[in-house]
Amino acid sequence: MPSIEMTSPCMECKNEESILTIRRRALCSNCFQRFVAYKVIRRIEHYKPTINNNPIPQILLPLSLGVSSSVLLHIIDSVTQVRRRKPNTNKAYDLHVLVVDPTSLSPSDRTYETNFLAAKTNFPSATTFTKIPFHSIFEYAPDMKQIMLEYAGPGFVDDASRSNEERLTAFRSTITSATSRKDLDSVLLTRLVVAYAKHIACEAILWGDSDSRLAAKTLAGAAKGRGASLTWQVSDGMSPWGVRFEFPLRDLSKPELLQYAGISELLEGVIIPEEPISDNILTKNLSIDDLMMRYVVTQGEKYRGVMANVSRTANKLEPAKGVDDQFCSLCGALTGNVKGNDAGLTVASQFGNSQGSFCYGCIRSRPEVIP
Ligand SMILES: [Zn+2]
Ligand SMILES: [Zn+2]
Repeated sequence: MPSIEMTSPCMECKNEESILTIRRRALCSNCFQRFVAYKVIRRIEHYKPTINNNPIPQILLPLSLGVSSSVLLHIIDSVTQVRRRKPNTNKAYDLHVLVVDPTSLSPSDRTYETNFLAAKTNFPSATTFTKIPFHSIFEYAPDMKQIMLEYAGPGFVDDASRSNEERLTAFRSTITSATSRKDLDSVLLTRLVVAYAKHIACEAILWGDSDSRLAAKTLAGAAKGRGASLTWQVSDGMSPWGVRFEFPLRDLSKPELLQYAGISELLEGVIIPEEPISDNILTKNLSIDDLMMRYVVTQGEKYRGVMANVSRTANKLEPAKGVDDQFCSLCGALTGNVKGNDAGLTVASQFGNSQGSFCYGCIRSRPEVIP
């Protein structure tokens, strides 16, 4: 029994003063962290330590040093540490953490080195902690050079004498619209993370998408004509590259993860603060992805049930089978899904010697080709 009268006792343990309210329940710090951790752990229950755990599964956690993936790492790390303290427990998995250098994605004055080191120090259960630049996509996925050329078309001249970094920058700078740029970057980033996962023989990738992000991705994906590849971008299961995709934060919203980050000392110094999107920025300069994320986060509180439903429904989608089961060379979606005008195949074949074929979503983001 508490010895002193509490003004607002935790509704769970009733032993501590509550510090925040989540889903209409006032909770203390411990009970809140337990609640969030439970939501994550039940999503990765199949990675339990078992007697016959040989070989030990290798799993990859891509860490952007943003709020969501950092919270995910915090939770997985604490679970792993607790399990390891138990006697006679086999390892459930080897955890590998991958950071794609944020400055190689968008140049900025901000250094992230201290954040990377803080994450490495604060979460010691990871077997490996690696950072790679964005342009190492050409190293881990060597076929990307050719795919990039076919995708960009004859308007783009690649200079093989330049460094990988310069070649990737030249390719990315051919795409001028904010939406297409963001869209293509996220496709390339996925390809890089998958290629790295395969390089170190990982069977699964744990993505740090909150339910807000999954809802935004679902809505933006539909708007960008990427419905065909939505399934594995938002639902747990096998990706087209033979690596499982898992989204363990799918039961938690971005504001809830922010609450979690706000009370976790170990995350101080790890998370790179987000640049707030200024209200003055013209909507036409925002990518569809940013616009949807802004919409989901601002409206999500009002319509929590609806947003959760969007990502939940997406998780139940079955990948549609294409007529010819041909996959997009760039993003891995089924090109055969584009029924009616078979846009995926037609546009790609405009360039006579083109080997690859691209889905409708990728074609919409391709550089403006000067005839
Ligand atoms: Zn409590
Ligand atoms: Zn595609």
